[in-house]
Amino acid sequence: MNLFSTVELAPNDPILGLNETFNADPRPTKVNLGIGVYTNDDGRIPLLRAVREAEKARLEAAVPRGYLPIDGITAYNSAVQKLLFGAASPLLAQGRIATVQALGGTGALKIGADFLRRLNPSAKVAVSNPSWENHRALFQAAGFEVVSYPYYNAETQDVDFTSLVNAFNTYAPGTIVILHACCHNPTGVDLTPEQWQQVVHIVKERQLVPFLDIAYQGFGVGIEEDAAAVRLFAEAGINSFIANSFSKSFSLYGERVGALSVITSSEAETLRVLSQLKLVIRTTYSNPPTHGGAIVAAILNKPELRALWEQELSEMRERILSMRGNLVAKLKQYGANRDFEFVNRQRGMFSYSGLSAQHVERLRTEFGIYAVSTGRICVAALNTRNIETVAQAITQVLNTT
Ligand code: PLP
Repeated sequence: MNLFSTVELAPNDPILGLNETFNADPRPTKVNLGIGVYTNDDGRIPLLRAVREAEKARLEAAVPRGYLPIDGITAYNSAVQKLLFGAASPLLAQGRIATVQALGGTGALKIGADFLRRLNPSAKVAVSNPSWENHRALFQAAGFEVVSYPYYNAETQDVDFTSLVNAFNTYAPGTIVILHACCHNPTGVDLTPEQWQQVVHIVKERQLVPFLDIAYQGFGVGIEEDAAAVRLFAEAGINSFIANSFSKSFSLYGERVGALSVITSSEAETLRVLSQLKLVIRTTYSNPPTHGGAIVAAILNKPELRALWEQELSEMRERILSMRGNLVAKLKQYGANRDFEFVNRQRGMFSYSGLSAQHVERLRTEFGIYAVSTGRICVAALNTRNIETVAQAITQVLNTT
């Protein structure tokens, strides 16, 4: 009897599968808007100058490669806290945040999920509809039942806030609600500051457990502005989980840099929570890798490198915004039969374009333009060389159906 004879073939990841088809496409004019990475105007993933400088210094210092502590680099974790909560946050002074370095945002979500599962195995997890597809899969894999809450209204191209509130009001105490702190993936549509305040109020009143995912800090409005939701939960003193990722903001996708922060009620509680997070890490991958964390810590803690990074981050943000504006203008110029102004209101790397699965299929077969079948396009993959092709193709597909 062969051990693996009954093993079934697991389905392909839809987005990675799309990449494979894209790579095999021989058309020179092909464009990949299906991916979730930022590319610059040359269509390449940038290596930030701040990263290059920090790497040069590290290489020259020729540091030995010992193990890191289970929770990672101390200077990294404290820089993460300042970035998320603000250097002046009283929670920092009170020792009320437990932070551990993690393997990207995904690793942070996983450590948080495993810890929560030990804490409250019968809790339900609620994710937005739609959401980054790994949210559901990851929390299910951690053993939770996952439900979804209404989020996006395709007709208004906005948040369906009334339905979101109604759903939250039905949740049992202890329900874990996954919230995108900024630059919602896949829709690009965020809550307003007033809506965030209401969410904080409901979460507190109903004793829900907020788990904020912040993978695009600095890609929306700015570093501080994009952390506003995290800071509202912090100010309200709510026990919250925050998974942050530096994959996009430092363009360090493959280095796996992120962190999990947990807001506790006291310094003593922080110590206890931290000890449990370390237990999860120890039995999962023992301790995190050095390189990415050391580079990010150096950049965030050295004023010149930090200033350079902030400048490069704003350049990425501004480029995405200008691509949004260009796309809207060109679609109008070519006579697309719908108004795309909503694309200018969305934030972050993505746009729920409103294109149907059939439109997406035609874009791929007729024009070699790849997007996710839900109509999600990565605006950060548009550039001055491909935007004409994309706008013309979208217009053609829309106006001939
Ligand atoms: N959370 C959201 C909302 C994301 O969009 C992503 C990446 O696409 C992640 C988490 C994962 O980030 P990382 O690549 O750092 O694991």
